[in-house]
Amino acid sequence: MSDQKPNPYKIAQDQLEGAAKICGLPVAIASILSQPKNELIVNFPVRMDNGEYKLFKGYRVQHNNILGPYKGGIRYHEMVSLDEIKALASWMTYKCALHDIPFGGGKGGIKFSPRDHSQSELERITRRFTHALGANIGPEYDIPAPDVGTNGQIMVWMMDTYMNVVGFADKNANRRVVTGKTLASGGSHGRESATGQGIVHCITEWARDRHFDLNGATFSVQGFGNVGSNASKILARTGASLVATGDWKGYIANGDGINPYKLGEYVARTGSVMGYPGARAITRQEFFATAVDIFIPAALELEIGIPEAKALSCKLVVEGANGPTDSVAEPILAEKGIALIPDILANSGGVVVSYYEWLQNKRSERWDLEEVEERLAKRMKRTYLAVNEYAATKKCSWRNAALCIALDRIGKAYSERGIFP
Ligand code: GLU
Repeated sequence: MSDQKPNPYKIAQDQLEGAAKICGLPVAIASILSQPKNELIVNFPVRMDNGEYKLFKGYRVQHNNILGPYKGGIRYHEMVSLDEIKALASWMTYKCALHDIPFGGGKGGIKFSPRDHSQSELERITRRFTHALGANIGPEYDIPAPDVGTNGQIMVWMMDTYMNVVGFADKNANRRVVTGKTLASGGSHGRESATGQGIVHCITEWARDRHFDLNGATFSVQGFGNVGSNASKILARTGASLVATGDWKGYIANGDGINPYKLGEYVARTGSVMGYPGARAITRQEFFATAVDIFIPAALELEIGIPEAKALSCKLVVEGANGPTDSVAEPILAEKGIALIPDILANSGGVVVSYYEWLQNKRSERWDLEEVEERLAKRMKRTYLAVNEYAATKKCSWRNAALCIALDRIGKAYSERGIFP
């Protein structure tokens, strides 16, 4: 990791500014989008297993809801900050608008390390946080989902707490206050692997356009959590091979290929990729310098700075993480002829299936896995093509094209509705 990471909110603002110029977004609307609508910070005490109380700081930022209820994940991580959540919330607005999903953007989180807590502490932290958020979330108002450090179980605790505290009169209608739930508690088939699946749809479209054979290709993945591990498993089915990966503890490589299923089992047992017997340990520098066809950053934001961009040796970067590339590093990738599929497109499979989960809950339906996967594939391909076409017509980067499509939709809604009063 670079010593000092830039502020992710500054990167989000740079991106907005750049794209707004290209698509001619009116200045008034750009200025509305430059700040979130609401920023909520809550401090709340939770009893630890040893009987002592600890104070936690939680956030929920609601960036924009012109196109629908605020939507976006909840992150549990020791580096969570207001500016990080603001950036992530704004990217959710653009991600949903890009796909023409009737949601706005939000994001939340708690600054702590979930690894240091027992399941029962995690449950109390989650329930107390949800209680503190109170009516600031809601099934037609603001709909959280999993993100880094959270999962289906945490979403179920949030749902259950919300149902019991805020709106028990219409308990079951409130099920869709969160998405990314477990299957038994109202989740959708295909949600857990959706982000990884969406990444692979982007890669197969890219490969098809270039007549590039994925069978025999190589890829590396930074981060082996939900997004990195699922993307690896699904991409491996095309015949491509994972040759390097890494997580919070360190990096590993094997030029002959790493079996992502076996690695997934190892990580589930040990908590990290480090020590996996089917690969050797490498440094972060070596990881970024590993020659591959495709690189998938699927960890945290701003991992690709200038040194990493200079070191990278690949044809394509697919942003599984949100905001992994610093604005100053992006031109270096372009100069080197490395294509980049931006986060709001590449990792959008998660929120697309969140939308399907929300719809299923609303209609009291359960779609089977094939139906979810078919719909996701169709939507990802359609949006990928739209971005590709926009970039070719306007001769701009895919990041700008994706943002411009989103901003055009948001801009149109504002210009039709006007700004109150
Ligand atoms: N946290 C995921 C993201 O960054 C999913 C959000 C959602 O499903 O609402 O896109």
